[in-house]
Amino acid sequence: MKLNTLSITELKNRFDAGQATAVQATTDTLAAIAKATEDNSFITIASSEKLLKQAEQIDAARQSGSDDSRLTGPLAGVPIAIKDNICVRGLRTTAGSRMLENFVSPYDATVVERLKAAGAILIGKTNLDEFAMGSFSTTSFFGVIKNPRVANATPGGSSGGSAAAVAADLCAAALGSDTGGSIRMPAAQTCIVGIKPTYGRVSRHGLIAFASSLDQIGPMTKTVEDAAILLEVIAGHDPHDATSSTRPVPRFSDAVHQGIESGVRGMKIGIPKEYFEESLDIDPVVRSQIQKALERLETAGATLIELSLPHTMYATLTYHTIAAAEASSNLARFDGVRFGHRTADANTLNDLYELSRAEGFGTEVKRRILLGTLMLSTGYYDRYFRKAQQARNLITHDFTRAFQGVDIIATPASPCSKFVLPDANTQSDSAFHADRFNVACNLAGLPAISVPCNALTRDPNTDQPVGLQLIAPAFEENRLFQAAACLEYLQNQSRRMA
Ligand code: GLN
Repeated sequence: MKLNTLSITELKNRFDAGQATAVQATTDTLAAIAKATEDNSFITIASSEKLLKQAEQIDAARQSGSDDSRLTGPLAGVPIAIKDNICVRGLRTTAGSRMLENFVSPYDATVVERLKAAGAILIGKTNLDEFAMGSFSTTSFFGVIKNPRVANATPGGSSGGSAAAVAADLCAAALGSDTGGSIRMPAAQTCIVGIKPTYGRVSRHGLIAFASSLDQIGPMTKTVEDAAILLEVIAGHDPHDATSSTRPVPRFSDAVHQGIESGVRGMKIGIPKEYFEESLDIDPVVRSQIQKALERLETAGATLIELSLPHTMYATLTYHTIAAAEASSNLARFDGVRFGHRTADANTLNDLYELSRAEGFGTEVKRRILLGTLMLSTGYYDRYFRKAQQARNLITHDFTRAFQGVDIIATPASPCSKFVLPDANTQSDSAFHADRFNVACNLAGLPAISVPCNALTRDPNTDQPVGLQLIAPAFEENRLFQAAACLEYLQNQSRRMA
């Protein structure tokens, strides 16, 4: 048994039972990564010498009963991958862009500090759509990412490298970031678990900003329990991020056990009709598997209640207006002087700015900067940006109203079961289509999880991944963990009986 195939929980159980070591886990993971270069899921792998040294120290500390959390904490010896828009000291942080091709971060993001303090082995940095802008993992300067679960398809995006790495067992778990679905959508496409926490639950300090009012970092894992464990480690107030919440972090793993032991008795699950309409062109496999998952939750004690989120149709346009406007402001700092790629060909200061930005950014990023600049400019601000802020309020109120009658809401995490490598001309249309299922949660700041709900045979030629998205009121991630764990447990059980 190769240790890289195990979940965090399985790995920890083996460590505790003395059946595995951190050195073995690290060695198996590095060997798997070395074999899987075709997937293009990593941009940078950490130095194997340093990782193995850390693993040796962890094994020695376990033997000697040390109380140093960096060596014996909840993730001691667990290989974790980090999306390459999150800073890790001493490693390159490229954001998938030529602009930051050679940027080595001088500091750790708060989530990275917390992972290190819990003993995690940070194995490397994963590929992503440039500056996290995209839905298909096709816009990275470092190339298209392959879906290890589906032939000729991408893993979705923008956290496609993290999703692919988890799905192909190149790490036990990974961190992604989600501005408009970038954790949940690739999780659905690769049949793993991905959760976008409530806005403010996790510090954004050290995350390269795309749209600051929407961005959140979150776990991408093989199981629901692993997502709970990882979120417990990274969540909580951080004085470096004024938007991070001071609310205490609950023990999310208790909610997981509750979901496994007592199901979802009494839980009311809202089914918003706007996410299931015929006109949405939802893949029939997605439709039928979501239906089956909802029936399973019903048998475990939940009540399904149809409801309406009437402003859903405005979500995608609202999101793209606000996200582009914030991106145009956030990305202004990459000018070749303060940050980022500097052209070799400038004669004047203006040339320096223009050429550095023209060479450093790819097409999709430029498109968003231009769009965002337009949205914020005099004359257009009222017509577009202010309207979008108003629509954002209406979308948020839809959820507030809905949660007066239900505990959580269920929708597909993605309308498609596979993203066969898209034709460049149709890409933005289908991206718009896919984003529609995810972006409302970011606009409203709500937590949402994608749980796999199709049994796969691990044959990339026939498998069709599907993710169920569950959404909860702000700071009620516990409800998501309970329902997701219940569903995962029931699915595993029926697979065992088949
Ligand atoms: N697909 C969306 C976009 O391109 C979401 C990206 C994200 O969540 N980072 O904007």
